[in-house]
Amino acid sequence: HLSKRLAAVANFVPDGARLADIGSDHAYLPANLLLNNQISFAIAGEVAPGPLANVKSEVQRHRLGDRLIPRLADGLAAIETNDLIDTVVIAGMGGRLICQILTDGQLETKRYHRLVLQPNIDVDLVRTWLSENGYRLVDEAVVADEGHYYEILVAEPGNVTYSARELQFGPYHLTEPSAAWTEKWQREANRIESIMKNLETADKTDTEAYQSYQHELQTI
Ligand code: SAM
Repeated sequence: HLSKRLAAVANFVPDGARLADIGSDHAYLPANLLLNNQISFAIAGEVAPGPLANVKSEVQRHRLGDRLIPRLADGLAAIETNDLIDTVVIAGMGGRLICQILTDGQLETKRYHRLVLQPNIDVDLVRTWLSENGYRLVDEAVVADEGHYYEILVAEPGNVTYSARELQFGPYHLTEPSAAWTEKWQREANRIESIMKNLETADKTDTEAYQSYQHELQTI
């Protein structure tokens, strides 16, 4: 049984995919997709030995030994050419780390059919990375799960340029705003407003910080 967040990520993995789940931790996502026969093969990449032990026990528990391969590796180095991976998932990390993993993975030479990325923060950086490296968004989602709003970016090879507004808020969300996406930005606006109120009480409205919050609030 997947969390709402991981179920939403799983939703964007194409049927029959050969999947690499990078930073897989317990490998819940690939195990679930394999057990439901939604995919045929998966690599679970982990940089840390502790989580990799979790992957191995998940593989044994479900007898997935021939279809779910644990690999101790940094980022996309977990993927070997013979794996014929077409879909890469990187979920549950900061956007900066996701960009670093993609950069280190030299995606210019290796093109995957689809990237499904779920940055916990700095989503705009990931959108920027994609557009600067020959990937275009083909879908986006925001899911509310246990008090957090999680963004999911789905990308495929292609060239596109996004405006600053699209990079921050997401081109798909701007044309078709979902309830969760609207709530996410409403909550962010509320957060900024309450910080601004505190600064006002402390008589600090002529500070750089206050100005930048004001600007941010206007943008939202
Ligand atoms: N992907 C799972 C999810 O979304 O629930 C697990 C997320 S967990 C918070 C992040 C995992 O990424 C950790 O297990 C960590 O060891 C792993 N990780 C961090 N940097 C990595 C890297 N460069 N390569 C592979 N795994 C990495």
